[in-house]
Amino acid sequence: MDGRKVVAWAARDTTGFLSPYSYTLRKTGSEDVVFKVLFCGIDHTDLHQMRNEIHSTNYPLVPGHEVVGEVVELGSEVKKFKIGDIVGVGCLVGSCGECLSCKSSMEQYCDSRVLTYNDIYKDGSSTQGGFSSAMTVHQRFLIRIPENLAPEQVAPLLCAGVTAYSPLKQFQESNKVFKAGILGLGGVSHLAVLIAKAMGHHVTVISSSDKKKEEALEDLGADAFLLSSSATEMEEAANSLDYILDTVPAVHHLHSYLSLLKVDGKLILVGVAPKPLQFDSVDLILGKKTITGSFIGSMEEMQEILEFWANKGLTSMIEIVNIEYVNKAFERMERNDVRYRFVLDVAGSNLE
Ligand SMILES: [Zn+2]
Ligand SMILES: [Zn+2]
Repeated sequence: MDGRKVVAWAARDTTGFLSPYSYTLRKTGSEDVVFKVLFCGIDHTDLHQMRNEIHSTNYPLVPGHEVVGEVVELGSEVKKFKIGDIVGVGCLVGSCGECLSCKSSMEQYCDSRVLTYNDIYKDGSSTQGGFSSAMTVHQRFLIRIPENLAPEQVAPLLCAGVTAYSPLKQFQESNKVFKAGILGLGGVSHLAVLIAKAMGHHVTVISSSDKKKEEALEDLGADAFLLSSSATEMEEAANSLDYILDTVPAVHHLHSYLSLLKVDGKLILVGVAPKPLQFDSVDLILGKKTITGSFIGSMEEMQEILEFWANKGLTSMIEIVNIEYVNKAFERMERNDVRYRFVLDVAGSNLE
């Protein structure tokens, strides 16, 4: 017997325009969980995939990798979940399970990872994402949503949130008040500000536009704002930060940001730039500084950030829209006209 029929929204070509599409989920395997999609976040990566800007997109493509749903069917071997549980899926739905990364709970770095959509699952079927009435996912790649968290709040944490949390958690277990810089102000970085503040860090938002100043300080509670286009402000802030989380997905010269770091400071890249970035070797050498990178987070860290979110009583800033609005939402996201993340109310939408 085949899996169930679902209705989704898919891109059909490089315009990336989304429209209704129906397909059949894979047959429910013994360790599979089928869930009805409730909410799904929308992200820049979705847009790049929809337009075939990353690696060859297979159309029709159903995007969506910040998915929250309610369990409706369980494979025979599933013990971890029960019908009615609220679960989440991020960027991954599979990995080899045997390599060093997989064995050390860092499956996001597995060379055989299977992405939530536009990838090929172990059985040869193509993966499709959360802009869909339902999904089938192996239990190992599902996380449990704590009861005290609203499902729509959780959606952006499953990619954007864990992308910020995973590199920041190295600074968590300490009484030291870290001086943090968050570069850029968008989906990932707004959550990074909230997370770093909740970890007790002193947080400076660094942006090229002072339009963001008020929101950074007042809405997100950052401690300071640094205008990167002001040479005076940048000079005054030299050698002042322990780390910078760099979320900018565009080409930018790293020299001026590296100068903000203290000796032994770290610049952590999480935004994928389309071309090589530049820095001068002395920027690193004359301050024992490090440039490093981080990719999403592990399944364990996804569970952790939800506990962290609940314990600290944090709230992400989202705009909830119906799926009929999705093309418009992408258009607005592209011109940064969202504070700070769109979340699709999939279950509340008429998918057809
Ligand atoms: Zn692996
Ligand atoms: Zn994402």
